[in-house]
Amino acid sequence: MAEFVEEDELNFALIMEKGFHNLGDEDFAVFKCPVCKRIYLIEYECDTIFSDPNDPSVCLAILSTCPFFSCLSCEYPFREGIIGPKADNRYRVTKDELLASNWSWLLLRGSQQELLQKNLHICFSAAQFRFRQTDPALAERMSKRTTTLGDLIRIREELFRMHLDPACASYKQGFKEAYDWLADQISAAAADPPEVRMTLAKMWKVETRKPDKE
Ligand SMILES: [Zn+2]
Repeated sequence: MAEFVEEDELNFALIMEKGFHNLGDEDFAVFKCPVCKRIYLIEYECDTIFSDPNDPSVCLAILSTCPFFSCLSCEYPFREGIIGPKADNRYRVTKDELLASNWSWLLLRGSQQELLQKNLHICFSAAQFRFRQTDPALAERMSKRTTTLGDLIRIREELFRMHLDPACASYKQGFKEAYDWLADQISAAAADPPEVRMTLAKMWKVETRKPDKE
């Protein structure tokens, strides 16, 4: 069965680095034209479609839930939701399709993804372990996935201390990575408090994700 590209498999850092961004708190997805299979990147917080993998300035503003635009290659008229749970599979992009396109750089490679997940898992577990000694209530909230924005900031501070702690030397790089990653989650959450829950959900999703099927 064809394996569709999921949102958390997109290389968010690289997308941002290449300049495909809007006003902050970006969320990206890919979709394709069901007729000619042309692939587009969409930033659906601000409903912007990018059509050129090499040029973020080429973009269209639309509504992802109800996009009235035509495929730039074949003029197929998009008239319904193209992303999200209600989107039809014919709009979804498979990994093979993405890799065969000029958008192939979007896909987070297995090794990077596995490394990030592994590091996040180790780091959050280690921080939780330390909080059991210093702040059992926070450790408990971590185990129940009910952390607040304030908790996230404290977890980040703890990761920073662990990064500097010689006793944690073997995971130094992992703590740094988790610390940086958490900074993005915190700034996204702080910029838009109603999004906190969603951001936290994403954070735990990364941490608890099962390894990719081969
Ligand atoms: Zn088309």
